[in-house]
Amino acid sequence: MDGSAISVRFWGVRGSIACAGPQTARYGGNTACVELRCGGHTLVFDAGTGIRPLGLALAREPAADLDLFFSHTHLDHVLGLPFFAPALTAGRRLRLWAGHLLPAMTLEAAVRRMMTPPLFPVPVETLRADLEFRDFRAGETLRPCTGVTVRTAPLDHPDGATGYRVEHGGRAVAYVTDIEHRPGERAAAVVDLVRGADLMIYDSTYTDAEFVERKGWGHSTWEEALRVADAAGVGRVVLFHHDPGHDDDFMDAVAAAAAISRPGTVVAREGETLTA
Ligand SMILES: [Zn+2]
Ligand SMILES: [Zn+2]
Repeated sequence: MDGSAISVRFWGVRGSIACAGPQTARYGGNTACVELRCGGHTLVFDAGTGIRPLGLALAREPAADLDLFFSHTHLDHVLGLPFFAPALTAGRRLRLWAGHLLPAMTLEAAVRRMMTPPLFPVPVETLRADLEFRDFRAGETLRPCTGVTVRTAPLDHPDGATGYRVEHGGRAVAYVTDIEHRPGERAAAVVDLVRGADLMIYDSTYTDAEFVERKGWGHSTWEEALRVADAAGVGRVVLFHHDPGHDDDFMDAVAAAAAISRPGTVVAREGETLTA
């Protein structure tokens, strides 16, 4: 990998709830967590249950600043945070970003609410890292560190969500999950966000056939992911946020159909690393 490339590693690819078991062993059962490496900098997207093994891997490396971006704060995207080793380590600097909460709420207040008895036994103070909560408004452009630009856009999802586009060394990776589309329409802000991206990770919870019965649930389909990609001139599409009810055989069938519809399309698998 050359210094300008962005590497993308999947630690959790499920939506809604973790679903470990023999039926999901090949694609993985952990909920959303994706690691991007831009040069020497690590950016993490979402803190689903997949963030626990990521934390164990990061703990074996020299401690560096980390940026953790939340698509939103539904439980499948935040529940892993108290089990993320770097967040528990004194002296580690961790910036946490969310763009869907202002003005009614803040990210710190949301995390405190999650880590509150009797639903969770220990408070936020257990996280001994140097935590910096950075709320922004989806649509703003963020510069977490030198050489990395993060563009954002609001997504149509219950309670709101944020789509991200990470730019580094002339490459771009988009992370767009927890979005519902309207059949036949394209959200202009989303198309603009992902336009020309080398790689786009997209909410593909359902098939178009299933979506008919799932309107209002806040998610999209793998077929819509490909339509957005075609409309926006995206390079490679990665189908993501798999329904926990879709076992490995089902995902194999999606992968085969998607690869025929748009060659190069892949279904995200836990543990896999891609390069943009
Ligand atoms: Zn989700
Ligand atoms: Zn959600």
